[in-house]
Amino acid sequence: MDIVPRPMLSVDEALERVLQSIVSVDEIERIPTMEARGRVLAESQVSDLDVPMHDNTQMDGYAVRVADCRSGHARLRVSQRIPAGHVGTALAAGSAARIFTGGLIPSGADAVVMQEDTTAETSEDGNYVVIKGTPKAGDWIRRAGEDIRSGATILSSGTRLKPQELGLAASVGRATLPVRRRLNVAIFFTGDELAMPGQLLKPGAIYNSSRFTLRSLLEDLDCSVTDLGIVPDTLVATKSALRRAAQGHDCIITSGGVSVGEEDHIKPAVEAEGHLDLWQIAMKPGKPLAFGRVGGTLFLGLPGNPVSSFVTFLLFVRPALLRLQGVVDVAPMAFGIRADFDWKKPDRRQEYLRVRLNPAGGLDLFPNQGSAVLTSTVWADGLVENPPSTAIAAGDIVRFLPFFGFAA
Ligand code: AMP
Ligand code: MG
Repeated sequence: MDIVPRPMLSVDEALERVLQSIVSVDEIERIPTMEARGRVLAESQVSDLDVPMHDNTQMDGYAVRVADCRSGHARLRVSQRIPAGHVGTALAAGSAARIFTGGLIPSGADAVVMQEDTTAETSEDGNYVVIKGTPKAGDWIRRAGEDIRSGATILSSGTRLKPQELGLAASVGRATLPVRRRLNVAIFFTGDELAMPGQLLKPGAIYNSSRFTLRSLLEDLDCSVTDLGIVPDTLVATKSALRRAAQGHDCIITSGGVSVGEEDHIKPAVEAEGHLDLWQIAMKPGKPLAFGRVGGTLFLGLPGNPVSSFVTFLLFVRPALLRLQGVVDVAPMAFGIRADFDWKKPDRRQEYLRVRLNPAGGLDLFPNQGSAVLTSTVWADGLVENPPSTAIAAGDIVRFLPFFGFAA
């Protein structure tokens, strides 16, 4: 019987299949804005305020009527003092209000003169200020609503709440925010060769570096992680770890054991406990990616080589988890940059080359692109996504995915 090799999936096809099978968690909780960092907003936020609420000054100086300053050296009586947080009275014609950044513009005033353009004078009948030059109407005034208009949507549902988003929500007075519940993710690592840092390495053993990388990547995505540690290369142990991982978790991530060798038990274990697709993906590093469900829990099995698991995490696990979290925009940041290297023997698979930005604004290539070479991931600033069978010549514009663009 002929064995017909199954065609490899492209990265885009595989990602499409992953994403279309995922429904976001729908539980919403309302939590203090101060504690919402990293969470995913569950409802769009509409401002019921103008920000700023009132016209105010962006400088320390004097609020004046432009009409009083036409001479270019007007001398005005200082009729009131308006610090930030205080409300003045209507500005009498022919006078100026001493005013401080954030202070409300008194009615009648139509410009602020910064104090550097004035000279203060004190005489027996009070304080005066000489205004150098003639201000224009509106000078140094922040207008009510110039940042946010009442009724404007300031944050969309499905946005990750970074420090800036929290500040914006607070600027319209939101003490609490509705967010999706946090994801619970279980992870384990297959391989009899794996040992933990701190242990002595027996011959043939290696340290479980991926435990540190993958767990941190999950934490960066604001997941609550259950780390089941190292699981021996047996079917029984793998099945039992899967059953535990399926309990109370939204997603199971595994590392290693997804090839189809005798020591690779992920495929039969997931098939026994749930449902599995094992895909050969036309990507390098990477290639095998296991995708399925155990009970209701999403399952994603990454290859064991540490660069492969890192890259497949960024390309598949990250968007899958973002979709599960309810994040709308799951695509990583990408832009075109000049390659300052040649790549003459491209693979037939889509490649993810570890590259670094150089001071000339181009990209340098790490010399060893091996899928176990973790030094490449630390040296690099990001990945070049190189389409299948595409040679690169220095000077070509390539598609650069910076690591910072994979942030939550
Ligand atoms: P596997 O996918 O299980 O066949 O593993 C492929 C390669 O990655 C082997 O050389 C493993 O020793 C190595 N490897 C597997 N898991 C890890 C891990 N957690 N950390 C570092 N290397 C690993
Ligand atoms: Mg293995």
